[in-house]
Amino acid sequence: MSNDITFSIIKPDALGRGDAGRILARITDTGFRIAALRMLHMTLRQAEGFYAVHRERPFYQGLVEFMSSGPVIVMVLRHPDAVEEFRRFIGTTDPAKAGPGTIRAEFGTDVRMNAVHGSDSPENALLEASYFFSAIDIF
Ligand code: UDP
Ligand code: MG
Repeated sequence: MSNDITFSIIKPDALGRGDAGRILARITDTGFRIAALRMLHMTLRQAEGFYAVHRERPFYQGLVEFMSSGPVIVMVLRHPDAVEEFRRFIGTTDPAKAGPGTIRAEFGTDVRMNAVHGSDSPENALLEASYFFSAIDIF
């Protein structure tokens, strides 16, 4: 499977604080190419569908309420080993534990409001990208 794309979301906390432009600049300055990008406000149902793999987790309800609380920017990014490289770039789930210089360390608030999403495998990157984009919209 092609490993040069990942899927990302700039989450409602980051958009609400006005950090989207700074985060996008960091993403492109680091060498990720934007292959698709769209801003939208997910309904609760859409957020539940996107995070369906987490539905048994204790944090699921809070997560889907947060992700549907305001607009987000969804995007497909290109880079060699995109999934792995992007997750290294954003840092661990909890911003308090994320490495210095990572996006989550710099822009995240807590383990829920951690500023950005990044796919965890090439398979999930394709699935997640196809939740929001058609193949013809991915450059
Ligand atoms: N999350 C949460 N509480 C937790 C763990 C995760 O609210 O204890 C949220 C957080 O926004 C995270 C998302 O659920 O980014 C998905 O969790 P996952 O374990 O997949 O973390 P990620 O892959 O985003 O680092
Ligand atoms: Mg995950």
